[in-house]
Amino acid sequence: MLNVPFIKASRAQFLSTLQARIDHQQNTFVVTANPEIVMYAHQHADYLRLLQHADFVTPDGVGILDGAKILGDPLPERITGFDTMTALLTWGSDHHKAAYFVGAKPEVIDFLRDILPSHYPGLNIVGLRDGYFTDEQAVADDIAAKQPDMVFAALGFPKQEHFIAIHRQAVNGLWMGVGGSFDALAGTVPRAPEFWQKHHLEWAYRTLKEPKRLKRIAVIPRYLRLVRQQAKH
Ligand code: UDP
Repeated sequence: MLNVPFIKASRAQFLSTLQARIDHQQNTFVVTANPEIVMYAHQHADYLRLLQHADFVTPDGVGILDGAKILGDPLPERITGFDTMTALLTWGSDHHKAAYFVGAKPEVIDFLRDILPSHYPGLNIVGLRDGYFTDEQAVADDIAAKQPDMVFAALGFPKQEHFIAIHRQAVNGLWMGVGGSFDALAGTVPRAPEFWQKHHLEWAYRTLKEPKRLKRIAVIPRYLRLVRQQAKH
């Protein structure tokens, strides 16, 4: 879609693919992309190349499913960063995997430090640091020293994808950009209730809760126009 290669898989299929790759210590870069990310990539060639070099780009956002339908090649379902991360944390807790968390505000990280061990008792939490660091190399060195099975980067796009692309060789594990998922995990930004999600209105709920999101959905008409143009070719 607009040169971004989305995977075509169910959530369950994708999750077992990731688990197998983590078990085999395969270096894996996952991007969960919404229309805003696709539009940003459309306007920034270096970011587009970065997405094209990721191992998996998943459809995070109903706008991507709509776009795939317009292109006549529908995708089975949304695969969000938040859902994938929490599923991997549960699995990681059951299988004693090591996880590294980098991103979000210091107070969110402090809160996660308190709650994560009881939520995921078997998980080996080898790093928890906020995303407002100045010495990026020091963060990368720490990740390299800890050798986690999974690195979750919640720095927002495009920062988190740039960070992963530059440092992913430090660890042969999973590297995934998860946007605002640490905030959601900490409960500082509530997830849309089931009803809104089922009716594909999560974006509306989040916009009501957080008006700054209006900027994000503002790209959707232009995005759909570009996808329709692509469909004609
Ligand atoms: N963030 C960060 N470092 C930065 C800029 C942002 O750690 O330099 C964090 C921010 O605190 C938030 C996340 O990145 O937790 C971005 O969330 P946002 O809601 O903007 O992203 P989305 O969920 O839409 O991808």
